[in-house]
Amino acid sequence: MNKADQLQILNAKMILECSCGLRETAIQAVPGDGNPDADIMFVGEAPGKNEDEQGKPFVGAAGKFLSEMLGSINLKREDIYITNVVKYRPPENRDPEPEEIEACMPWLHEQIKIIEPKIIVTLGRHAMEHFIPGKKISEVHGQAFRRTFPDIGEQIFFALYHPAAALYNGSMRATLIADFKKIPKVIEKLKGSRTK
Ligand code: URA
Repeated sequence: MNKADQLQILNAKMILECSCGLRETAIQAVPGDGNPDADIMFVGEAPGKNEDEQGKPFVGAAGKFLSEMLGSINLKREDIYITNVVKYRPPENRDPEPEEIEACMPWLHEQIKIIEPKIIVTLGRHAMEHFIPGKKISEVHGQAFRRTFPDIGEQIFFALYHPAAALYNGSMRATLIADFKKIPKVIEKLKGSRTK
């Protein structure tokens, strides 16, 4: 079965079975969007208002900014796969609780297993904390890490600030734009490495 079909089945199962408490307040699940054969997978925090209404990740202001940054490295939304740590909008866009992250995490891991990206770009603190634990985003943004998980195996993670946080913060915005431009080089380097 191709990756698109596998993802469709997984996401449909997630919509039915995810145990996250945020299902009570969200309009709908936001499983993920983009190219199932992508080399690059982006993982954000949680859907916001627009995403909750449309059922797609990163369709609001942060998404527009992300699309601009993708354009700066000659990529389009259709070239990447994008999803979030938490698949449902938290009320008033509050931070997701640990148990909400825990409930949604198995679905994210399954998505990664199907897509098998060359690199996973974490957007913001919550996505980073799960995959690159024990680090501060202010210290590791713009850097790549190799980490191994029992189910998804060895993966390369690249930490970025969250576009929503950087949108209206001049210096963080400039840092994010500069970090983003490093992505092609990191991928190029991986081609020469034995494991990835
Ligand atoms: N912020 C996120 O982390 N995810 C979205 O889907 C939108 C905004």
